[in-house]
Amino acid sequence: MEKRPVGRFAPTPSGRMHLGNVFAALLSWLSPKSRGGDWILRMEDLDTLRTKAEYAELLRDDLRWLGLDWDLETEAQSLRSAVYDRYFEELKEKNLLFPCYCTRSQLHNVNAPHLSDGTYVYAGTCRNLTEAQRAEKKRLPSWRVMVPDREFALTDLIQGDYRENLLTDRGDFVVRRADGVYVYQLAVTVDDGESGVTEVVRGWDLLGSAPRQMYLQELFGFRHPEYAHIPMLMAPEGRRLSKRNQDLDMGALRTRLKPEQLIGVLAHAAGLTETAAPISAVELATVFDWAKIEGRTEIVVTELDTLYR
Ligand code: GLU
Repeated sequence: MEKRPVGRFAPTPSGRMHLGNVFAALLSWLSPKSRGGDWILRMEDLDTLRTKAEYAELLRDDLRWLGLDWDLETEAQSLRSAVYDRYFEELKEKNLLFPCYCTRSQLHNVNAPHLSDGTYVYAGTCRNLTEAQRAEKKRLPSWRVMVPDREFALTDLIQGDYRENLLTDRGDFVVRRADGVYVYQLAVTVDDGESGVTEVVRGWDLLGSAPRQMYLQELFGFRHPEYAHIPMLMAPEGRRLSKRNQDLDMGALRTRLKPEQLIGVLAHAAGLTETAAPISAVELATVFDWAKIEGRTEIVVTELDTLYR
């Protein structure tokens, strides 16, 4: 028997929800709800400079307005450093961590191989420093986890096959910053693992994070979830509907539309329905199927005009 699905939505409360976030929330809700599963909400507020409690409250209010009810809200990440400490110590005991003293400019050195998304491959500079060399350093280190020379592969429900050799494509990556704050990769792995998440549905921009998270899942003894990375929303004329479209944030959308109208437009764009007719999230769950979305590299919001009426 298939395991009871557990999905989640893990927004960063750093502003009002935008059309793209609404779409991610909707799909992450539909997938488990169409199969009698649960949906968890979690605030990813590690970046305390950008996130605010009032944005988290607005997010909850926007989700309720959309009719996306959550079964459980797990503890916000900013409250969980003691939990992350335990996993960090576990890695340390396994001798998988090392302190890294590189400055930002050393890391982004023009000689370092760069990935297409602008990030660099860590050259292993601080991996083999001796204790004496470490003692000479005058700055607080970040902590990196050593990665194996091995491919991590997944079959994404939308994007298909994706693989990365962690050593040659990424290099050892940071799990705790020099100021003691844990990074997204560690926190998300611990939180998804501890809450029994079976599927991760989120924006396409995080596809490249999945192999690192799969490696940490392996180290911590968590099962790999299924992944679905959602393509970027596009306007009919080929323009990206980015966060800069302020007129497509929930503050504006809610003044112009009913939730069923907004969901109807998104469902149609995703290929879930034949028309953009209004539909509730609950009704949409009865026709939801990943096979209808699979293989899409772009999602064009053909009925974009409707969102401005
Ligand atoms: N907190 C991330 C965001 O808002 C999502 C992380 C995830 O879903 O894994 O973009």
